[in-house]
Amino acid sequence: MYKKPGYPKLVIDLNKLRNNIEHVRKMCDEQDVEIAGVIKGCSGLIPCARQFERAGCSYIASSRLEQLEPLREAGIQTPLMMVRIPMLSEAEDVVRICDYSLNSEVTVLRELNVQARLQDREHNVILMADCGDLREGFWDKDEMVDVAEMVEKELKNLHLAGVGVNVGCYGSVLATPEKIQELVDIAERIEERIGRELEIISGGATSSLMRVIDGNLPSRVNMLRCGEGILLNYDLPHLYGYEMDNMYQDAFKLRAEVIEVKDKPSHPVGEIGFDAFGHQVQYEDRGIRRRALVGLGKCDYGDPSELICCEEGAEVLGASSDHTILDVQDVKRDLQVGDIIEFDIKYATLVYLTNSPNIDKVYI
Ligand SMILES: *Cc1c(COP(=O)(O)O)cnc(C)c1O
Repeated sequence: MYKKPGYPKLVIDLNKLRNNIEHVRKMCDEQDVEIAGVIKGCSGLIPCARQFERAGCSYIASSRLEQLEPLREAGIQTPLMMVRIPMLSEAEDVVRICDYSLNSEVTVLRELNVQARLQDREHNVILMADCGDLREGFWDKDEMVDVAEMVEKELKNLHLAGVGVNVGCYGSVLATPEKIQELVDIAERIEERIGRELEIISGGATSSLMRVIDGNLPSRVNMLRCGEGILLNYDLPHLYGYEMDNMYQDAFKLRAEVIEVKDKPSHPVGEIGFDAFGHQVQYEDRGIRRRALVGLGKCDYGDPSELICCEEGAEVLGASSDHTILDVQDVKRDLQVGDIIEFDIKYATLVYLTNSPNIDKVYI
């Protein structure tokens, strides 16, 4: 039977990951903000999820039930949170698997309540407000307050744990103090209506960490749902210029094997049509150049332009499903077939790689 020789592989440094989680958790702890560690970025890999538990996250969260369910079987005790608003058809499993879910639809809330009653449980819900990013959440805030009251008074097997907001996902809206304060204002309207305090005000994802660092997170916000900033720590330093000392950016590294090295023209030779994915591509003619192929492709990581090649002098030219093409003309070492090339990765790449059965995951 065919047995994979070990490349391509994703090398995952659990100590670096753990360090990142602990650092973010402590930073938030000082401002009385709890962390829901979001594991969807690494497709819920259990050894990674375990680091979130060990580092003392209050919740472990994912957008997918199939990533959360195995955590229970693996003995992870941390409360589990579903961060994609549930499909109506998965309500039963949401209640069975998760302690918390984020919600924005009355129909789903009613179904969660029915399922919780059938399972003789109380399920915790967080109502999502859409404050302008235009993905999930109540747009009509009067409706949101009404629904909160209904959950509180009528849906006996649901517990209204709090409210949340998401920004910077679809609409690229920044988590400014004013934007997050909009959520706090809604929370206070709900508290007035139901006559008690909400336990959770969940003020966003990694992009809201900037408010923790700057010390201007609205004070009533007491929970953030954090994935990228912990797993990769790429966006805050690279997109927003925050110095993230004491945080690693290479907890995940990709290694791939060179399968061909040859001098070839840099412009395709022949009449030009479409590439393997049906795109028309512009090719730059730089004359004859040394090129290397490595044995993985778009099937494994999505978009080759998101790969960050660690080999000095090498440049990612492009890819098809199963091949990645590098310009290695300026690489100092004498690159040979069988050599290994390392890559740093960004969020989308990490999602694809951790999902790909072709990629060996090696923990160090
Ligand atoms: C993915 C997701 C998060 C985590 O986002 P990061 O940018 O990775 O921190 C938080 N909340 C919701 C609702 C999400 O879907």
